Amino acid sequence: MPARFPRRKSDPGDAKRIVCPRCRSEAVHRYGRSHEGRRRYRCKLCGRQFTLSMRAPLPPQERPRCPACGSPMHVYMRRGGEIRFRCGAYPACRSYLKKSSG
Ligand SMILES: [Zn+2]
Ligand SMILES: [Zn+2]
Repeated sequence: MPARFPRRKSDPGDAKRIVCPRCRSEAVHRYGRSHEGRRRYRCKLCGRQFTLSMRAPLPPQERPRCPACGSPMHVYMRRGGEIRFRCGAYPACRSYLKKSSG
């Protein structure tokens, strides 16, 4: 019976590795912060600036209120530079909003 080696757990350092979303280069450096307060990075190879797209909740002031019922809305989809919000009272209220995240 062949010895089974346990799968190596990924090095915790790997999760911290930041790569450019465009060219996958690791030659990125910190580049201040975005207007949302997220850390911003810039790729040395292609010059791309980006923030890490973590699914952190938006700060309350960035959450719109539902135009129909006034409930705070929450993010249910991010696509490209667009954020879609859905009413917090869903499914009772099905209104939603789109917003450009810049
Ligand atoms: Zn790059
Ligand atoms: Zn609503």
